[in-house]
Amino acid sequence: IPFSELLEQLPKQFFASLVAKVGEKIKAGCDVINLGQGNPDQPTPKHIVEAMQRAAANPKYHKYSPFQGYFFLKEAIAAFYAREYGGNIDPDREVAILFGGKAGLVELPLCLVNPGDVVLVPDPGYPDYWSGIALARARMEMMPLVAENGFLPDYEAIPAAVADRAKLMFLNYPNNPTGATATKEFFAETVAFAAKYGIAVVHDFAYGAIGFDGRKPVSFLEVDGAKDVGVEIYTFSKTYNMAGWRVAFAVGNEQIIRALELLQDHLYVSLFGAIQEAAAAALLGPQDCVTELVALYEARRNAFIAALCEAGWEVQAPSGSFFAWLPLPKGISSAEFADMLLERAHVAVAPGIGFGEHGEGYVRVGLLTDEARLREAAERIGRLELFEK
Ligand code: PLP
Repeated sequence: IPFSELLEQLPKQFFASLVAKVGEKIKAGCDVINLGQGNPDQPTPKHIVEAMQRAAANPKYHKYSPFQGYFFLKEAIAAFYAREYGGNIDPDREVAILFGGKAGLVELPLCLVNPGDVVLVPDPGYPDYWSGIALARARMEMMPLVAENGFLPDYEAIPAAVADRAKLMFLNYPNNPTGATATKEFFAETVAFAAKYGIAVVHDFAYGAIGFDGRKPVSFLEVDGAKDVGVEIYTFSKTYNMAGWRVAFAVGNEQIIRALELLQDHLYVSLFGAIQEAAAAALLGPQDCVTELVALYEARRNAFIAALCEAGWEVQAPSGSFFAWLPLPKGISSAEFADMLLERAHVAVAPGIGFGEHGEGYVRVGLLTDEARLREAAERIGRLELFEK
């Protein structure tokens, strides 16, 4: 069967091999603490599940839903942005409903760039950005995220020749994998840079609800001029533990929203209406579940970081997301470390190299199990003899 070249050119799914290795260890009877993935471990709040159950019984939702989704969900999204970020979003023209954040992130390059165009990508960063860029046959230029710069890209370091050719830029704060958060000043700088070079900005706000130490993460749309240059992607997966439901949305620049909806007309009809009801219930219903979730992640973060520091590691606590980003001792690659940790200590973590070249020298730890298990994982990491004596 003659398959397409495109299929060959898709980036390798780096983490598939990690999942397979963890599966083998568990099958062999090992007590694996799996901190390698980003799959929230808590259930969807009950009132959201109940909204879905009620709606699922309504025959109205058993038919095709309207193209581009129900307007009640778009209105709920606009109300959510107004409440949380003071945003002034037009539900009719500035909101697109997505089949999960990942789908939107892959669709955006298809809407915004041509083959050969340059896309600026954070390194380390969420690998799914690479997928849409590969499908669009565009070229990635990496923006290094380094600790000295708070894991924010340095726009001044991007050569003008590269910026001139760039059509699109991905950003993501709170950040996967580094756990860094951004400031309004940084986003203002981003808007100025994007406007100067005519670059569309996609801000991935997947961890928008998860900020620690009393700091609420900043939305890109809180900054003047943001809507002129870009959109923000917000998923229900993390805020409301709805990763399996596949629902997210894009808000912001009207033309980009229109392009996304145009492309989506060719791909889907619309999400199951009952999921849309549940999503609206999540945004408009009680938010204590979110406050409790953030407190839970913060307690886990504190327990894990404290245990790791006790074990002699120097680690910075993440200020958002549910990941810790551990710098490794010199002389061992992130893949070697992750393999060794799984093999000898039965703790799975994600090697930094899987997020880009600048992820080398780090591993990502998902704070997605209870405090006792996280402490146990930190102790196992502490006991690991990294180098032959
Ligand atoms: N963006 C980032 C940075 C993520 O970590 C994830 C999920 O892990 C997503 C987007 C996608 O979320 P979803 O496709 O579940 O909406």
